[in-house]
Amino acid sequence: MKITGAWLTDPATQALCAAVTAAGHRILFVGGCVRNALLGVPVSDIDLATDARPETVSDIAESAGFRVVPTGIDHGTVTVIAGGVPHEVTTFRRDVETDGRRAVIAYSTELAEDAARRDFTMNALYADAVGNVVDPLGGLPDLLARRVRFVGDAGTRIAEDYLRILRFFRFHAHFGNPDEGLDAEGLAACAAGSAGIETLSAERIGAEMKKLLAAPDPAPSVCAMAQAGILLQVLPGGDPQFLAPLVHVEAGRPPRWQRRLAVLGGDLIRLRLSKAETVTVSAIRDEIGSLRSPAALGFLHGAEVAADVLLIRAAMQLAPLPEGWPAEVDRGAAARFPLRAADLAPLAGPDLGRRLKLLEQRWLASDLRLDKAALLQSSDD
Ligand code: ATP
Ligand code: MG
Repeated sequence: MKITGAWLTDPATQALCAAVTAAGHRILFVGGCVRNALLGVPVSDIDLATDARPETVSDIAESAGFRVVPTGIDHGTVTVIAGGVPHEVTTFRRDVETDGRRAVIAYSTELAEDAARRDFTMNALYADAVGNVVDPLGGLPDLLARRVRFVGDAGTRIAEDYLRILRFFRFHAHFGNPDEGLDAEGLAACAAGSAGIETLSAERIGAEMKKLLAAPDPAPSVCAMAQAGILLQVLPGGDPQFLAPLVHVEAGRPPRWQRRLAVLGGDLIRLRLSKAETVTVSAIRDEIGSLRSPAALGFLHGAEVAADVLLIRAAMQLAPLPEGWPAEVDRGAAARFPLRAADLAPLAGPDLGRRLKLLEQRWLASDLRLDKAALLQSSDD
């Protein structure tokens, strides 16, 4: 089996591999780039594995004229910028000791050891510089069947690193076979280890959940998380019942994790979203039950959030998608409130503020149709 891709044949990438090889070391592509290339989906980042120590990788890459950033030297990773693209080069490792969050590692010169410490068989696939796939654990059949399976004993691997629970659901959402359930052994082990999620930082939980919810169809994974008692750990009070209807209503529109998260409800506290992200998700939630029109939503929140609200209302069968709604949302997003403070002179101070607010409400209620003259003429009763 062989992979190819512009990222693989890129001259700078090839020059990096050639430099490491010329120094007498092995270097192989690994993880997402190999997996995605085999599945024919775009490759987002390039990870490489080598038997050379991190200092050696740095020396070789710098001598070959590449910029090197010591991004994760304590877990054996250096980032080599080749052709303007970061290449994460990690020394073969085995985990010596783990406490569920942090591993004490030892470098290794054995590919098999490096493969054994990886999370899923589909993520333990390697390829050499010309694209020949190297499969030390027999992960290829799992990948081709789109089966997310833990490397080794699922329970043991989860106890080493509880983030793997969330990665299990995330990779199923992106790469699993939609016609089959999740791997039964893996799912049972996730349920059994669910309490360990507590040990993870909110940043890591949030980052995983965003990636999971950005999958084309995260609903089967999220339902399985709910059944396994994991959803309540990451999103207390969250309920997956309207997620599948939402994905159906989306009808292939670009996924937005904010929209999917909003439809789940629940407490966002364990996700540590940024302020702006929290504002967005809250705005979507707050408008689901409001009666605001597509244009008013577009004006108040922008086209994306407005679309999110309308799609969720349709999924919850609160309101069907209104005829011609995308154009209405765009009309609202492009609209400007026709009045300025100067138009209301001599009003000033709090009186002016109140008046502007009132007239804006009136304008929104007219579905953004009243013009300046009509607003100024409108009476207060
Ligand atoms: P993507 O980058 O597309 O999300 P990926 O598979 O490249 O997917 P990364 O998080 O970049 O995922 O990790 C690269 C590789 O490192 C994985 O494919 C896997 O082999 C290994 N890996 C990452 N995180 C873990 C983990 N928590 N436990 C075990 N192995 C891991
Ligand atoms: Mg990656």
